[in-house]
Amino acid sequence: MFEQGINYLFNEVSLYAKETFNVFELKDNKYEYNKDEFFRFLYYIGICQDKLITYCHKCKKEFPFDVKIELFEFNQETRDCRAYMKIAKAGGQFGAPQIDMKTGTILGLQPPYDKDNLNNEKIWYIEYYFTCTNNDKHKYMMMISIELKDGKFIVRKIGQNPSMLTVKGFDFDKYKKFLDKINAYDDYKKADLCNSDHFYVGAYAYLRRTFEKMIVFYLGNIELKDDHMDTKIDAVKDNFDPRVKKMLKNLYGILSISIHELDEEQSKEYYTYLKAVIDMQLEYKKSEDEKDKQSKDLEGILSKIENFVKK
Ligand SMILES: [Zn+2]
Repeated sequence: MFEQGINYLFNEVSLYAKETFNVFELKDNKYEYNKDEFFRFLYYIGICQDKLITYCHKCKKEFPFDVKIELFEFNQETRDCRAYMKIAKAGGQFGAPQIDMKTGTILGLQPPYDKDNLNNEKIWYIEYYFTCTNNDKHKYMMMISIELKDGKFIVRKIGQNPSMLTVKGFDFDKYKKFLDKINAYDDYKKADLCNSDHFYVGAYAYLRRTFEKMIVFYLGNIELKDDHMDTKIDAVKDNFDPRVKKMLKNLYGILSISIHELDEEQSKEYYTYLKAVIDMQLEYKKSEDEKDKQSKDLEGILSKIENFVKK
């Protein structure tokens, strides 16, 4: 249940993606408190987690990073650093309720809270400073906003440095050899860049180019009766991973639509689909190439042994 901690927030969540936590629910003019949702919220934003595991693009290896967090509110004149999120205005003799960012506990008046007491419409920001445990000069940074609205905490990732693309660079370098061979490395990389910026039309366009280059590569000198995408795909389908082959039929339709006819939603959907197909094929190609190399190595060893035995 709690798998979505700081690692998830840094490594997987894209910029401006939001996550909502129904921590307080209004019943009879009082905000009741949902403990599970509150814990899910705390875990999501990384409370009580002192290490981030991610790829250090300078060490070129995955390492734990030390985590330091700083909470602040944005006022008109000053920037206040706060270690506590004050979630309601008044708390009577117990003091105004606030979340201790070190422990995640609510200090002061405990819930439920009167409807007008809860600090709805308030926004906090958290800056995260990450330091590579292998070399303390390697630093990453992330920023989120937390909005309390109608009893819900809405969390948005609003900044990250280096970008997801740099951090995840190793992911597509995995297939660099083949992508370079078909001259599609940059297209494949740009598709990911556009996607992480939520520019889905662009992401889809680059991915489609990658796929087209793949087809051209497999076609080689094969002569075709026409220039249609389905004719091309049909001619090269035996080069594909058997699992991908089954999906190629659906691709005809998708790829025949002009990019200009697509809206953001469709582009996003087609991107996801095409990305899965391409990655599966890249993985297949990579493992086939490795097997080829292994069997060649093995042949070499065998002939050496043969010669030795003959002597
Ligand atoms: Zn490092």
